[in-house]
Amino acid sequence: MPDYIHYQDLGNGITCIDTHLNRPGLAACYLIEHNGMTGFIDTGTNNSVLILLEVLKRKGIAAESVAYIMPTHVHLDHAGGAGGLMQHFTQATLLIHPRGARHMIDPAKLEQGSLAVYGEEAFGKMFGRLIPIAAERVQEVEDEFELDFNGRKLLFLDTPGHARHHYCIYDELSQGLFTGDTFGVSYPELNNGKNRFIFPPTTPIQFDPAAWLQTLERLMALKPARIYVTHFGMHENLKPLHELLRRTIEDYAEIEQELAVMDQRERRIGDAILQAGINYLLDQQCGVDTDTIKSLIDRDMELNAQGLNHWLTAL
Ligand SMILES: [Zn+2]
Repeated sequence: MPDYIHYQDLGNGITCIDTHLNRPGLAACYLIEHNGMTGFIDTGTNNSVLILLEVLKRKGIAAESVAYIMPTHVHLDHAGGAGGLMQHFTQATLLIHPRGARHMIDPAKLEQGSLAVYGEEAFGKMFGRLIPIAAERVQEVEDEFELDFNGRKLLFLDTPGHARHHYCIYDELSQGLFTGDTFGVSYPELNNGKNRFIFPPTTPIQFDPAAWLQTLERLMALKPARIYVTHFGMHENLKPLHELLRRTIEDYAEIEQELAVMDQRERRIGDAILQAGINYLLDQQCGVDTDTIKSLIDRDMELNAQGLNHWLTAL
């Protein structure tokens, strides 16, 4: 049993569960309950499955009530635990973006892709192994698919930008959006300043700034009252977050153009965007020193630089 179980009731039958990837407060998934039906939005990794089962037990929720597993996209911090959960919840259906479905049924290629990004050692430690899901239990959901979740409407939206296999879910009851990685990453430790800090994860290999900016407009047009982000937690007052995210995506594109023909481009991009993050946070009086900021975001900025560099190469 994992020694770390942390979850928080957010109202409206929604529980945020820390999936304990690398450190507390890094990655979450959401349990949604309505009239006796339950489901998970995002899953954590295969190492998180025991945590999710323990949370169900503590909340007195029967495993048989779990009807849907809904990874927002197939990156492993969101979908790595899907196969393990589907083994436990034998009556559940996996709802997945059409571009992600084959990777859930046969995860070999997904595993190779992630190995290339993270390296073997980190991959094993972070994600464990991937478990294939029988094709007949996988349902592809198209843009604007509406799920009747026991009388609660969940609207699925195709949201490219971070990844082409990403959907977001709008929950009418909470007026909340489950945004996976599409509405950025915002860590609790860095949100104690004048304004919250949020950044776009430009993880390899499908970063698409133009599509992303359009996606954000589409999400904001729904006038959501709150977002539930995987990294990490619930956020309200979305206008300034949207503004910062939009500006950062534009800034990234600019930094890339400046460094496009330089030697060691990836490292330079990484240094530049890490420094931009630090500058913003210090300016916001975030209450955390530079070394701590670095320890919290330098791996993300490395991954972002990989993704940005890949994007430049592919242009
Ligand atoms: Zn992702």
